[in-house]
Amino acid sequence: MHADTYRHRGMRRALVEELRRKGIRDERVLAAIGAVPRHQFFASAFQPHAYHDKAFPIGEGQTISQPYTVAYQTELLGIRPQDQVLEIGTGSGYQCCVLLELTAQVFSIEYNPVLFERTARRLAALQRPAHLFCGDGSLGLPAHAPFDKIIVTAGAPTLPRPLLRQLRIGGTLIIPVGDETSQRMLRVVRESEDAFSRQELEEFRFVPLLGKAGWGGGE
Ligand code: SAM
Repeated sequence: MHADTYRHRGMRRALVEELRRKGIRDERVLAAIGAVPRHQFFASAFQPHAYHDKAFPIGEGQTISQPYTVAYQTELLGIRPQDQVLEIGTGSGYQCCVLLELTAQVFSIEYNPVLFERTARRLAALQRPAHLFCGDGSLGLPAHAPFDKIIVTAGAPTLPRPLLRQLRIGGTLIIPVGDETSQRMLRVVRESEDAFSRQELEEFRFVPLLGKAGWGGGE
């Protein structure tokens, strides 16, 4: 694993200040970004890109999300230390490690088996104890539901019903929903057994959420 040097910590501090300037306010989220060595989620040749506020390819046609997007979605989740959190789209494992700075109970599911294997090995080497699964996250993780917070890190065509059902009452789902070119971030709160409130936020551009309750629904 790549060492975390004084130089890397300096670049992380600069990234945190950049995110603060861009509007991230939650100090716990900023501290989490400051604590997770993002360069450890990059292949050696690409490490100079790790502390730019940009998404970056991770292979298999997928990306590690832009730090601003990670901070923005994490801030919206409003994680408390006792929360059980589900992430859909483990990817590189970076967002998962940011979540682990805020609660010990993080479940994350990845559809692509190559990324899943690589990231499971990485998080084991980094000693980050997330509960990792390989499969169709658009269906959630019913065996471990309900969740206090659910974060989707790929763009969905509609709100996946299984995820709504797996939210605890009072729980929050943060998910980008739209077409192939852009998605609006939604914050959905389960107010009661069958009532949900919904808030529409900023526009983003994510890779597609695959699977039965994602873009693969019509297959
Ligand atoms: N959170 C990731 C990180 O920190 O690196 C970035 C995720 S990337 C933008 C989106 C990920 O969602 C990809 O790794 C993709 O394979 C995964 N994905 C797409 N559809 C999925 C599904 N139905 N279930 C689980 N993962 C899915």
